[in-house]
Amino acid sequence: MNKYVELANLIFQEDLYSIEELEAKYPKRDLPVGAYVTRFAPSPTGFLHTGSLFAALISSKFAYQSYGVFFIRLEDTDQKREIAGSGASLVSQLAAFGVYPHEGYLGDNLEKGNYGPYVQSKRAKIYKSVIKQMIINNQAYPCFCSADDLSAMRKQQDERKENFGYYGEYAKCSKLSPEEAIEKIKNGEPYVLRFRSTGDYHNKIVVNDAIRGRIEIAQNDQHIVILKSDGLPTYHFAHLVDDHFMRTTHITRGEEWLPSLPVHIELFEAMGWQKPTYAHLPVIMKLDNGNRRKLSKRKDLEAAVSYFLEQGYPVDGFLEYLFTIANSNFEAWRDEFKDLSRDEFKMSFDKMSLDGALFDLAKIQNLCKEKLGHMNTKEFANSAYTWAKEYNEELKALIERDYDYFSQIVSIEREKENPRKDYEKFSDILPLIKFFYDDHYESMKQDALLFNENLSKETIIKVLETYLAKYDLNLTEEDWFAVMKEVAVECGFAATPKEFKKNKEAFLGHVGDVAAILRIVVTLRMQSPNLYYVMKIIGKDRVDARIKNAIESLK
Ligand code: GLU
Repeated sequence: MNKYVELANLIFQEDLYSIEELEAKYPKRDLPVGAYVTRFAPSPTGFLHTGSLFAALISSKFAYQSYGVFFIRLEDTDQKREIAGSGASLVSQLAAFGVYPHEGYLGDNLEKGNYGPYVQSKRAKIYKSVIKQMIINNQAYPCFCSADDLSAMRKQQDERKENFGYYGEYAKCSKLSPEEAIEKIKNGEPYVLRFRSTGDYHNKIVVNDAIRGRIEIAQNDQHIVILKSDGLPTYHFAHLVDDHFMRTTHITRGEEWLPSLPVHIELFEAMGWQKPTYAHLPVIMKLDNGNRRKLSKRKDLEAAVSYFLEQGYPVDGFLEYLFTIANSNFEAWRDEFKDLSRDEFKMSFDKMSLDGALFDLAKIQNLCKEKLGHMNTKEFANSAYTWAKEYNEELKALIERDYDYFSQIVSIEREKENPRKDYEKFSDILPLIKFFYDDHYESMKQDALLFNENLSKETIIKVLETYLAKYDLNLTEEDWFAVMKEVAVECGFAATPKEFKKNKEAFLGHVGDVAAILRIVVTLRMQSPNLYYVMKIIGKDRVDARIKNAIESLK
């Protein structure tokens, strides 16, 4: 028997597939011309990073807009780093941002599609089948080097100032004959399996990256490990096999994979398989004291998308932002087509920035304020409730106490051309509206009311008593404010800021200062939604009670 076949049979004694069987089992996809097959391939090692959501969003967009397929594959071959449950939570967080796969991994023991399994640890048979053929072709071999051998090799490379790694003369086990390898295996020596590279580091290869264009890089010469001693593949090899048999056409992944590209190219070429198009996405950067740096898992709260969900940023505003950093022409498109869905926008690789997308929290906040401001009352109240059910027990309880009352509160100056933009995220709601509820109002009141220090107690009392005697919430806002002006004048304030400015000595302040006193009494805040509507919603009886109590406590 051919010695390579004997070696392959010795290494893999189980029942495996032939390459032809795999090709038949995972046939080319029947899709319209120009359809992209893309994927998101997270490792279940923790939270969903904002950069990963960005990558997933872009991958899915390209598939959807071309009537292709977007799938999720769970890359769990590094089992030491795995965090239980994180795979499923990645999928649900993606869904929270509206990123849904057509097929693939959907949660533990849950997947759909004909190209699975979509979890790498369940694909061992497929990887082994390919490697077996590679051993038969002398493209892969067992390596018996111990950790000590490898560190001695590194030391030598360091001393000689040569490239690190297992290549050329350093790739000792590549020199073993199949007979020698067979003997070592029979003697029980432990081993991993390596790819036999035929490349030369001094040669250059040219790759066309969909984002970066033509790239020239050194050819691979590394005999990388393809199957580890735990029987699982390395990323490089799994990428080859999975993206080939899942028929991925476009690989959008982080630019940290760019240095590995020569290995991937050589692997595809060695197998004679069609290479996918690579698109290496820019890293998401942040401005920190005027310097650009990578968004960091450790330093930046906003590096985890869960932050935006927990804070209650409207998903739509956040996605709108990610589109602006993905494609430089998106903002202009949005200006032109204010009401179109992002689905109508055609994303393209050549409109992506190369030097790192800049993540600008202030811009996200603005976009989110816009989105929340323009929601109608029903939508806003519903979304706030959905958020509160998940993230804020106290707000949830208030909403459930009286949904209509809550809707009235959040309806203030909404549904108009220039709506108020009080909220940037749902977590802003509770502190801003607590005072509408008497029990909360009472407990907030424990802190002294912060009236303008320049006004005497007597003046404040006078303002409150005068207002109490005169105000009428059945008036229009304009007429109600006219009464406020009368109160101001009666109490020694100017009716307008302009009048006050002209002759400051003659007045205690102006109508705005009078309104501020009432605002503090009724809302316990220096800023609040429109006071007229606030009072109308709270209702005359309760407003009266608040004013009377304040007068009492001032006396
Ligand atoms: N599992 C790899 C990662 O999380 C996937 C990279 C890729 O998309 O190929 O970085």
